[in-house]
Amino acid sequence: MKLSESIRKALNDQVVKEFYSAYLYRSMSADMKAAGYKGYAHWLMKQYAEEIEHGEKIVAYIEDRDGTVDFGQIDAVSAHFDCPLKVAEAALGHEQYVSESIRTIFKAAREEGDIETELFLQWFITEQVEEEASATEVKQGFEAAGDCKGLRHMFDAQLAQR
Ligand code: MG
Repeated sequence: MKLSESIRKALNDQVVKEFYSAYLYRSMSADMKAAGYKGYAHWLMKQYAEEIEHGEKIVAYIEDRDGTVDFGQIDAVSAHFDCPLKVAEAALGHEQYVSESIRTIFKAAREEGDIETELFLQWFITEQVEEEASATEVKQGFEAAGDCKGLRHMFDAQLAQR
């Protein structure tokens, strides 16, 4: 069954948000590499790859439901970071924003009786719980390390294991 135009548009906007997320993490990874946090830079590169997968999943779904995907404009990433805690805070805030965006589409699908989109978005809702949890874990790790450079680099080495 073809998607309604409003759900197609909402999912399409989500595609752009997922690709923006990839772009944001890519930039954060470059910043952390430059600041000497190689483990976190690696962690962020993995996140970058995951976000592209998220975008592709939604593209495939729109296509399966006989919709056209518009590859709209992706915003530039303007902020630079040199402190890993600031990155972790921004990443958590961004994931919370993405979770809310997905919740909004889910509710709209429910209102329209589009059960296929509800089911499709269930995976994303579960994924967002994990994304927020892992972003929180990283934030707490750098918070615990505080101003101690040695501890920060110890935690950074843990992030290289991802
Ligand atoms: Mg995502």
